[in-house]
Amino acid sequence: MLKGKVAVVTGGTRGIGFAIVKKYLENGAKVVLFGSKAETVEKALAALKQENPEWVVEGAYPDLTEEKEVAAEIENIKEKFGRIDILVNNAGVSDSTPVDKYEEGQFEKTMKLNVNAIFNAISPTVKIMKAQGGGCIINTSSMVSKYGQPSGVVYPTSKFAVNGLTLSLARELGPSNIRVNAVAPGVTKTDMVAALPKEVIEPLIATIPLRRVAEPEDVANAFLFLASDMASYVTGEILSVDGAARS
Ligand code: NAD
Repeated sequence: MLKGKVAVVTGGTRGIGFAIVKKYLENGAKVVLFGSKAETVEKALAALKQENPEWVVEGAYPDLTEEKEVAAEIENIKEKFGRIDILVNNAGVSDSTPVDKYEEGQFEKTMKLNVNAIFNAISPTVKIMKAQGGGCIINTSSMVSKYGQPSGVVYPTSKFAVNGLTLSLARELGPSNIRVNAVAPGVTKTDMVAALPKEVIEPLIATIPLRRVAEPEDVANAFLFLASDMASYVTGEILSVDGAARS
């Protein structure tokens, strides 16, 4: 579904991002994954190369909160691969701190990674996409971007901002043939969720109509659809992949 396309996936070393990278490779894309440090990037690349030595996958670890660093890395990718067709802004951190317990700078730090970093990657990539005649951007939002959450206000705040950025850029970039969408996952079985004790996870699952948490692959499938030509007329959409969870 993505034969010949070049994709960049931030936060691609584990969890949902790693599943997206794998799904894109399985579907014929060349992928550059971003992580936060050399060791985790190397580990992810080794695992992928072991699975299929033919896959074209590389890694980098720019500080996503530094505009110039990200722009330089995006330019490197363009030099090396000649184009960027798909940008997935997936890196992000969650938070559950009560509002009166935040440390100084904590709110800003999370906003910088979950929101500013997306802008930092999009801005230089759009220049490339415009010059090549189009492209596609997909951001990772969350189900909390619709309902908020009981504690950790910065996390839903940042994901509401991701939705706003997505809807607005879809309007701005549509005339340049650049589609902009987001995926809003529900509770997904990444390392953190897999480690939750039975007493926590079972009552949670009971509230989800599909009666299970998402596998990373459930979420990656939505990213595949949105990146592919099957979604050629889909833009400005926040696609929920949450089993209809509503809490
Ligand atoms: P994860 O912690 O397993 O992976 C996070 C990824 O982001 C890693 O690849 C990591 O390298 C990268 N990252 C984290 N901090 C970084 C930093 N400072 N600089 C650069 N990269 C950094 O998380 P996940 O659960 O796979 O989450 C991925 C995305 O999905 C996030 O945006 C998260 O908000 C969203 N999400 C997750 C869930 C869930 O239940 N797991 C639900 C809804 C939304």
